[in-house]
Amino acid sequence: MKKQPQRKCVGCGHMKDKRDLIRVLKDEEGIISVDLTGRKNGRGAYLCRDQACLKMAEKNHGLEHSLKTRIEDSVDASLEAQFQTFPSGENDSLTEKRPVRCPRSPAGAGDLGSSMEGGVTV
Ligand SMILES: [Zn+2]
Repeated sequence: MKKQPQRKCVGCGHMKDKRDLIRVLKDEEGIISVDLTGRKNGRGAYLCRDQACLKMAEKNHGLEHSLKTRIEDSVDASLEAQFQTFPSGENDSLTEKRPVRCPRSPAGAGDLGSSMEGGVTV
């Protein structure tokens, strides 16, 4: 088994597998974004998939130090918004996109629809 390279979260400071971390990237134009592929060019900083770590990185300026840039509040806000979309803990669900089910809207006969939904409940 191949060992994953470890990176340090700039928020909590823990070492983790690179794949368990979010890469925040500053590209050549100085634009900060979340790099989900981990392959884009630029300077990267790593954070746990956790908004708490993002907040810590903002407070201790770990992100700014790693990226060697000043991070505007608006950038912080957009990063936070992107972190909100990450499911905490369950990394696998990131790659596995679930198809969106569109339940057939009962046209007229409402009682017919309910029997079809029985097996879907989680
Ligand atoms: Zn962390």
